[in-house]
Amino acid sequence: MSDHHTIFALASGGGRAGIAVYRLSGPAAAAALQALSGRPLPPPRRAQRRRLVDAAGLVIDEGLVLWFPAPASFTGEDVVELQLHGGRAVAAAVGDALLGLGLRPAEPGEFSRRAFAAGKLDLTQAEALADLVAAETAAQRRQALAQMDGALGRLYDDWRQRLLRAQAHLEAEIDFAEDDLPGGLSEAARQALAELAGQIAAHLADGGRGERLRDGLSAAILGAPNVGKSSLLNRLAGREAAIVAATAGTTRDVIEVHLDVDGFPVTLADTAGLRAAAEAVEEEGVRRARARAETADLRLVVFDATALPALDPASLALVDDGALVLFNKCDRWTGVLPASLAGRPVQAVSAASGQGLNEVLHAMGRRAGQLLDGGGAPALTRARHRRALEDSLAAIRRALDEGLPELVAEDVRVATQALGRITGRVDVEEMLDVIFREFCIGK
Ligand code: GDP
Repeated sequence: MSDHHTIFALASGGGRAGIAVYRLSGPAAAAALQALSGRPLPPPRRAQRRRLVDAAGLVIDEGLVLWFPAPASFTGEDVVELQLHGGRAVAAAVGDALLGLGLRPAEPGEFSRRAFAAGKLDLTQAEALADLVAAETAAQRRQALAQMDGALGRLYDDWRQRLLRAQAHLEAEIDFAEDDLPGGLSEAARQALAELAGQIAAHLADGGRGERLRDGLSAAILGAPNVGKSSLLNRLAGREAAIVAATAGTTRDVIEVHLDVDGFPVTLADTAGLRAAAEAVEEEGVRRARARAETADLRLVVFDATALPALDPASLALVDDGALVLFNKCDRWTGVLPASLAGRPVQAVSAASGQGLNEVLHAMGRRAGQLLDGGGAPALTRARHRRALEDSLAAIRRALDEGLPELVAEDVRVATQALGRITGRVDVEEMLDVIFREFCIGK
């Protein structure tokens, strides 16, 4: 898996910048730094200013160099960091010089992969690192940081340890049935398994909170044509919330903007008007709007206040517990709005004047908080983890239904392996450790 090549990469990403950071990792990193700087290595972990030269002795650039001897480095290997001036020409010259010294450009994720191989990170932490780099809102950043800190890995590892213990008990009972072992082992194992099954099931039933936080909550603006959906989307996107440019389809298609609502990522979609359309294109738009409405985490159902007392029945049908009900064009309406609609409170807004829009954003933020905030408990963040947990839970449940000790043990082994896939720890030796530590069989 990990070769002994020394790799390098522009860690700070391409393009013009004041400073660019290059990272080198592997056994030849130290020699490369000495060759580039023409001087002995600096003391470990202390920045030093050096002039870097190429093979012909011509100056490439001047900057700070850092030396992290193994194993106290990100990858666990010898690592060198070069902080040079940003820009394409410097990058090209550094790249050429490093290639000339026999180093090879790193593959995507290769530094993290080496860190994983060296036991510096488990897989959930490596994934969290990628999430942190991609995080766009405060809540996403916090979730990635907690996972990088190992909160999720510790939870899964703890479960796995408990499964290993149950497995050891069960297998010991099978293998050493005649010997003098403490009694009631399989009952203890059974209880541990039942408890674990409950905890995994509860963790899985979190409503996809962590995954939604990674991907962003989906919200849809729904309503009849001309109630002001597009105008509202534009106004909302133009507020403090907008973080990314709109990805626009046709006016009859779904238009999305990415919003940062109180630190939560929300992808807000404007959908074509809900009505039985004559034109085929519009029909497609309506179909998509319906699909959106069905899958959205958060619905903003918009009515036209100036059309009162008439209420669009198709829109009314979309008002449920998770919906925010908005009456738009309140700048042109002086009458009284209904206090609630289908049991939901009503908000008066105007895309034209901006009235009520901060309240809408706050209501969206509260709803996002309800859906995404788990009160600090580590959240399931990826479909990969979910699948493995589901496999593990299914195997534990099979084990609980099983009568034959050999089959129970086999199911528990499958459950342990499924959990091990999440953090990347799949190890038979550990099993033996548990057996020998807890039973001291044969001393
Ligand atoms: P959509 O079909 O629901 O997306 O509606 P649009 O956003 O295209 O708006 C339809 C019409 O209503 C346009 O002429 C807008 O200028 C107008 N409109 C939208 N919001 C308001 C508002 O708050 N007040 C007033 N007076 N007109 C609005």
